[in-house]
Amino acid sequence: MNNTTFTNPSQVLKQFFGYSDFRGNQQAIIDSVLNKKDTIVLMPTGGGKSVCYQVPAMIFQGLTLVISPLISLMKDQVDALNANGIPAAFLNSSQSQSEQRFISSQIESGKIKLLYIAPERLYRGDYPLIDFLKTVNLSFVAIDEAHCVSQWGHDFRPEYLKIGELRKSFPQIPFIALTATADKLTRIDIADKLGLKLPQWFISSFDRSNITYRVTAKRDAMGKLLEFLDFHKKDSGVVYCLSRKNVEETAAELQARGLSALPYHAGLPREEREKNQEFFIKDEVKIMVATIAFGMGIDKSNVRFVVHMNMPQNIEGYYQETGRAGRDGLPSDALLFYSAQDAITLGRMLDQAENQQFVDVMQDKLEKMKAFCQTRICRRKYLLNYFGENHAGDCGNCDICFQKGKRQDMTIPAQMLLSAIVRLRENYGIGHVLLVLRGSKSSKLSEEHQALSVYGIGKDRPEAFWKNLCDKLIQEEYLAEAGAHFPTLKLTEFAWQKLKSKEKILLPMEESLSDVSNKPKEH
Ligand code: ADP
Ligand code: ZN
Repeated sequence: MNNTTFTNPSQVLKQFFGYSDFRGNQQAIIDSVLNKKDTIVLMPTGGGKSVCYQVPAMIFQGLTLVISPLISLMKDQVDALNANGIPAAFLNSSQSQSEQRFISSQIESGKIKLLYIAPERLYRGDYPLIDFLKTVNLSFVAIDEAHCVSQWGHDFRPEYLKIGELRKSFPQIPFIALTATADKLTRIDIADKLGLKLPQWFISSFDRSNITYRVTAKRDAMGKLLEFLDFHKKDSGVVYCLSRKNVEETAAELQARGLSALPYHAGLPREEREKNQEFFIKDEVKIMVATIAFGMGIDKSNVRFVVHMNMPQNIEGYYQETGRAGRDGLPSDALLFYSAQDAITLGRMLDQAENQQFVDVMQDKLEKMKAFCQTRICRRKYLLNYFGENHAGDCGNCDICFQKGKRQDMTIPAQMLLSAIVRLRENYGIGHVLLVLRGSKSSKLSEEHQALSVYGIGKDRPEAFWKNLCDKLIQEEYLAEAGAHFPTLKLTEFAWQKLKSKEKILLPMEESLSDVSNKPKEH
């Protein structure tokens, strides 16, 4: 690198990144940084956050420090920068002493513009990096995945709290914090915990208009998943599961059916994990079945679908995970399987945490996630509203929007199902209700239940029909699933009103997932 100094951001963008124009807020963000203002950037995944600190790094005289939690990605990021002619390096524990000494000397002689580190590196070890930084010309600090500083975020990393001290040690230089996911609480935390001074905020629209959102009942999830994957035959995608065991079982099941799938979770040996990830990134395997350990920072633009086999714990996580689909801007699918049982399981997992305030916040987030699954308003509207953004009108690209105008009159069977639930005093789940409704001879049914007036009135229709109807009644808020241990069905106030007023019960009964997949784009 010669000592040419750059002053013009557009020129840097063109020369080193090959792009002719800035996108969205990039230019304004870079101006804010160059004016030495602390800056906070909220931009969805794929929005182009990196350029916001990489371009200023080429303009500032001294070193830019980039703090990122993703050690495994640093090498790739640095290689990519070097390939573009940008002198960058990283320091982490995978390097030998002499390698690290070499990089330090390169920094001292001003040969390196961007240095990537993980936050723990700042204060740990015999010679913490913070002491070294005080001896060099540090111009600018960028904090990637800044939501990690907040314990209200979904990925809290305590080492991030130390960055506040770094801010105090370098009061004269600008800091930029970037994240793709932060609700209101997390946003306040980012400014506060990082000690940013009157930060300039740049909040981009979080809408990912190329992603189709769908939520469907978890019953027969595997069957529905296979149908969905059949629709996405040649595509790459991620299937998220809650537990490692689910990951392995699901991956094995897909493999057994001849699908190109591999597992990924933190319990696998490192080599296997890295190998599987590599296969996926290089398109040598199509489906990555994974826990949420997979994907943070993975830069693969042609992910066409993201499936959640279980409901995530909160909307931030869901939005970040689904946001890995369609970074290239092409139509992509997000599918979530919802069950009340999963919501109960997640709630119980939270209850085990110690800090009550934390539990309360997380329970609230879980409730909002659940409400998203059960909502009858446009999913995109709901999501954007969660992030404080208003979406004018319905999106026309989510399952709720697709269902509009496609309702069937289900009054009679719905009344049968609802009255069976009432006769059973709203004390049972769907399994038992159907035994009664379909007139089962099972020994599980007491004589009392066999004598009910609703016994056997639904025997003319198959079990699958009733289960589907039940799911729709839940989704449309006629029924609610409650109960601490297993979900029992209860009628909502809305259902009672409908029954009293003798209104027709119109429900969206289309079912096949492939039926609706991406079709709306075509008309
Ligand atoms: P994020 O970190 O916000 O997820 P990246 O910084 O990885 O996003 O950028 C996403 C993609 O967009 C990358 O392929 C990047 O090269 C590209 N990109 C960024 N800025 C521009 C721009 N101004 N013009 C065209 N492409 C851009
Ligand atoms: Zn919609």
